[in-house]
Amino acid sequence: MARRDPRDPELHRQALQPRRRRRAWLENLNPATGRLISRIARSGSEDVDRACAAAASARKPWGDTPVLERARLLDAIAEGIQARFDEFARTESEDQGKPVSLARSIDIPRAIANFRFFAGAVRHDETGCHEMHGQGGTGALNYSLRRPVGVAALITPWNLPLYLLTWKVAPALACGNPVVCKPSELTPRTATLLAEVIDEVGLPDGAFNLVHGLGPEVGAPLTAHPQVALVSFTGGTATGERVAAAAAPGFKKLSLELGGKNATLVFADCDFDQAVEGAARAAFANQGEICLCGSRILVERSIHDRFVDALVARVSALRVGDPASPDTDMGALVSAAHRDKVEGYLRLAVEEGGRLRCGGQRPSLNPPLDGGFFLQPAVITDLAPSCRTATEEIFGPVVTVHPFDTEAEALNAANGVRYGLSASLWTTDLRRAHRLSAALDTGMVWVNTWLLRDLRVPFGGVKDSGVGREGGRFSLDFYSDMKNVCIQL
Ligand code: NAD
Repeated sequence: MARRDPRDPELHRQALQPRRRRRAWLENLNPATGRLISRIARSGSEDVDRACAAAASARKPWGDTPVLERARLLDAIAEGIQARFDEFARTESEDQGKPVSLARSIDIPRAIANFRFFAGAVRHDETGCHEMHGQGGTGALNYSLRRPVGVAALITPWNLPLYLLTWKVAPALACGNPVVCKPSELTPRTATLLAEVIDEVGLPDGAFNLVHGLGPEVGAPLTAHPQVALVSFTGGTATGERVAAAAAPGFKKLSLELGGKNATLVFADCDFDQAVEGAARAAFANQGEICLCGSRILVERSIHDRFVDALVARVSALRVGDPASPDTDMGALVSAAHRDKVEGYLRLAVEEGGRLRCGGQRPSLNPPLDGGFFLQPAVITDLAPSCRTATEEIFGPVVTVHPFDTEAEALNAANGVRYGLSASLWTTDLRRAHRLSAALDTGMVWVNTWLLRDLRVPFGGVKDSGVGREGGRFSLDFYSDMKNVCIQL
């Protein structure tokens, strides 16, 4: 079959439509009710081909768009999201199960901030100049030029859908790359709203493409696609392995933000109330469905029992229920299958000798919430820090608490997992804070806080938590290729 001209704008429009074939739609359920809220395109590799062709056709028009104009368009996207703020927040909550208050205070403001931040970042970007001094007045001048990499494949998970998608889309577009986005099939709708906003803002045809569908049917062909030059993936570690293997033969630029099993280390010299509040938030924000959640708490033995009592009291007071209610602290887990997985870990914890101090049951809620995938937040003690419950990523409202006697023991336990994304330390001893921050095998450490984010700082993990860093100039460097020019003087 003859291939169509990739510059044909019709290709871009078609890429948004699923091809007529059997089983071309996926059902999207509201996790808070278990009811159908939308159907999304179940795209396939032919849709990926068309999206990549459309993106390839936009390489020149988008890459040649002056940086200031790109920045203006990014700001316009931010304004477009802001103008539909309520709709974005409600949709994110309905798709994901999170409290709408969280979508309003974190997810959607952060998505807007991502576009504004990277608009500013490219406006103020500077590249290097290296002067060489030779003998007798000779020398050379090196300067660096930032160039787009090419078609960027951006694949994201379901826990912070728009927040994480825009964390990739904004810098990729800012650096002049056309993008093909593949959001999670479980939380697809804010990506569609974003596509509508971008369509109205008026980027060149093909600069932004969105393909909905399943990982193996869309994500896999997208990662391996010959027209894709860069892959930025956020998701599970097992999927990350597949993505890395698919991207390797094409020498694609790769960033992997993967799973975590993050430790919260609480020392006896901490501000006790602050530490309890911080540890509870770190464990259960967004139903514990954040890669950075502190899902194992290591507590110095002298305050362990008091800490557990205070934590259990705090966690038992969390209100689990209707995500649409402003009073709700925790909504529903993203799917029935995910709740089954989390409940499987609760059974494992008991088999491993753990003691369930609170939570772990399905709350009884009135219709239509009785069909939702809710779970009371669980605190578990009496487990060894090396057991499966305390070392495998659960990614739900479950936290384990373990006593330690020495700083070395705490460090050993914190580092004794395959993951290395983040940690939080609660101590008033500044020397200890510096010492441990340097020694923890993680990409990020918070001291006396959690999830405080400055978009300029490097974000990423070590060990099985990922490869590469994004954020600020790290994102600019990832989403562009630096070219050095050396001039003999
Ligand atoms: P997942 O790996 O199942 O899916 C992530 C995305 O990859 C989805 O869009 C999915 O459809 C797609 N996908 C699935 N198979 C694929 C394949 N073979 N090729 C390409 N794409 C494929 O992860 P999830 O369940 O959606 O998200 C939860 C995981 O994400 C957790 O492990 C969590 O820790 C991790 N996560 C990490 C970060 C971080 O920044 N490090 C942030 C959020 C979530």
